[in-house]
Amino acid sequence: MDRRHFMGTLAAAGAAAGAASALVARRARAAEQKPLGVALVGIGKLTQGQLLPALKKTSHCRLAALVSGHPEKARKVAAEHGLPEKNIYTYETFDRLADNPEVDIVYIVLPNAMHAEYTIRAARAGKHVYCEKPMAISPRECEEMIAACKKAKRQLGIAYRLHFEPHNLEVARIARERELGAVKVIDVAGCTMVGDPAQWRLDKKLSGGGSLVDIGIYALQAARYISGEEPTAVSARQTVTDRAKFKGIDETLLFSLSFPSGIVANGISSYAVFLNRFVVAAEGGRFGVDPALNYHGIRGFRSDNKPLAFPEIDQFATEMDDFAACVRAGKPTRVPGEEGLRDVRLIEALYQAAETGREVKVAP
Ligand code: NAD
Repeated sequence: MDRRHFMGTLAAAGAAAGAASALVARRARAAEQKPLGVALVGIGKLTQGQLLPALKKTSHCRLAALVSGHPEKARKVAAEHGLPEKNIYTYETFDRLADNPEVDIVYIVLPNAMHAEYTIRAARAGKHVYCEKPMAISPRECEEMIAACKKAKRQLGIAYRLHFEPHNLEVARIARERELGAVKVIDVAGCTMVGDPAQWRLDKKLSGGGSLVDIGIYALQAARYISGEEPTAVSARQTVTDRAKFKGIDETLLFSLSFPSGIVANGISSYAVFLNRFVVAAEGGRFGVDPALNYHGIRGFRSDNKPLAFPEIDQFATEMDDFAACVRAGKPTRVPGEEGLRDVRLIEALYQAAETGREVKVAP
């Protein structure tokens, strides 16, 4: 080969190598941009009414699989969402998710007593897990879920959507920065009404409790993220108006949380009324959200009449996007399993307090 040809070949090889590395970089960028695949486990009201529509609005997620015990329903929903039938699983074939590289995140949307089992199985299948609230029905289950995800080196997030809701975030900021002075009292209500007496929410084996585990948990959460502290003692008492419907689970629970700084939170959790609001009384005025936890129409207020208003977001799309972004970046989620565990421990202490009529000390 003469020198001219040799130089030409070298240049061509150099160009080819350059093109190949550009291709590798482009593929890496594309992989970074590619939405993560989400498997929804359970196709009930939340999945159908909120999560499936929200997935379409996300930037970092896409529907990759459905897990259901009802093949007809699963096929219908899959068809509506352009999901191939091969990506439908049952509770029996769930573990085969391990062989599906399209699934990155498994989102558990089942009755509360099933959260632990499916979280642990998903982690064992090598998937990241996002789990509905309450995280589980006992602190021990929560600890096992955390351990399983740690062992599998996968992230575990709990679907606390209000940690992404701008009005709630602003209330926590005003409290933290003492914009209206030091917070003294937090008044929280997390109440809703439940219809069908045959539903799993009223069956303690499946729900783990009544209004507190389902809706009051938002009030408990709010007291914690607004005070920015962990309670050291809790007290509670129960009332019931419909004894036929609420057997062995709380219809209404009134509770009080004492925080280390002296802040006190008074709460009501109930299945008897529609009421949800978080009101903060500080030295220099009051502020809060009312309604506080609805999917739409959350409204903020401040007693100094400064605005506490933000455009509405899709809370479900936002939380799923945030979790996917954390998974992709290897960054911890702001709603890890440990956060779910803290609430489940407090719920246990609150039920104990209600049962004994005594204040229960809790480790911060
Ligand atoms: P749902 O009853 O509408 O759906 C439950 C799903 O689980 C159904 O698809 C059902 O077929 C399936 N399932 C499997 N085994 C079951 C069994 N043994 N008994 C009953 N159902 C069984 O419930 P949902 O309202 O969608 O709630 C699901 C989870 O989502 C719960 O943990 C709940 O706390 C949570 N949730 C969260 C929010 C929120 O705003 N983040 C709102 C609603 C529900």
